[in-house]
Amino acid sequence: MPEGDSVYQLSKRLQFMQGREVTRCSIRVPRYATVDVSGLTCERVWPYGKHLFMQFGPEVVHTHLKMEGTWAKHRAGARWKKPGHTARIVLQLKDPAGDIEIVGHELGLVEVFPAREYAERMSYLGPDMLAEDFDHDEVVRRIEASPRLEIGRALLDQKNAAGIGNEYRAEINFLAGTHPAELVGDVDVDAHVRIARRLMWANKDSPVRVTTGVRRAGETSYVFGRNNKPCRRCATLIKKGFLGGSGDLERVIWWCPRCQPAPHKRAG
Ligand SMILES: [Zn+2]
Repeated sequence: MPEGDSVYQLSKRLQFMQGREVTRCSIRVPRYATVDVSGLTCERVWPYGKHLFMQFGPEVVHTHLKMEGTWAKHRAGARWKKPGHTARIVLQLKDPAGDIEIVGHELGLVEVFPAREYAERMSYLGPDMLAEDFDHDEVVRRIEASPRLEIGRALLDQKNAAGIGNEYRAEINFLAGTHPAELVGDVDVDAHVRIARRLMWANKDSPVRVTTGVRRAGETSYVFGRNNKPCRRCATLIKKGFLGGSGDLERVIWWCPRCQPAPHKRAG
C-alpha cells in the first residue's frame, strides 16, 4: 500500500525530471484534457504525505496513487501499454539520448492548479511525517483536539498527520501497546507520534518497509497482515477486525489481544 514513504521514494526517483523541458503532454482526465504543459520546464518534483507534486512553469500537477497507482519511465517510443492498466498522464521530457516518457497509471487523483494556490489548497493537510523539519508538536496538538476519537482513526486522518497509512497505523498501535479503538483522550499521544516518526523516518529510503528491525520476508511487521499468526512478543494469536468509519481498506485493523487489550466500555 502506498504510504508516505512510498511517495517519498517515488519523488526521489522522479528528481531527474527537474530542469527538463516537456516535449509532449497528455492528461487523460476529462476535466484536464485540454491542459498542456509542453514547452514548459519541470521546476520541481516533491512529495507531501501521500501526495505527489510536479511544477511546470506556473502550473502544479497534483497526483495521488490511492490503491493501484504507479509511475513508469521509458524511452519515448517504447511500448509501455500494460493490459488492464489505464494511463492517466503521459509526459515526454527532453533528453539528449532520446526523449524520456513518464506514464502515470491508475492514479487515484489527478488535478492541475496554479502554483500560487499550492499553500492554500494543501493547508488542510497536517504536517508531513517525512519533512526534514517535522512538526511533532503540531501533530500532537491536532490529534489531541479530538479526545473522543479512536486513536486508530486519528492516526490515519491526513488532516492530523500527512503520510500515515493503514500499515503504519497497525504497527504504531502495537508498539505503543494500544488497541486502535482506544480514545485519544485515554492514550499517550506524544508517544504515538514519536513512534510514527521514528518508524517512517527509518524506512524512508528502504525498498522494504520494516517495523520489527528484521528484514527477512514474513518478519517485517508485528501485526499488519498477520491475522491468526502468533504475536512476536507474547505468542497470542493476532486478530483482525474493522474500526468504524467509512468504506475501504482503511477500516481493517490488526492487533494482539494481549499486548493491546481492547478498551473498557466507559459509563456515559
Ligand atoms: Zn502480544
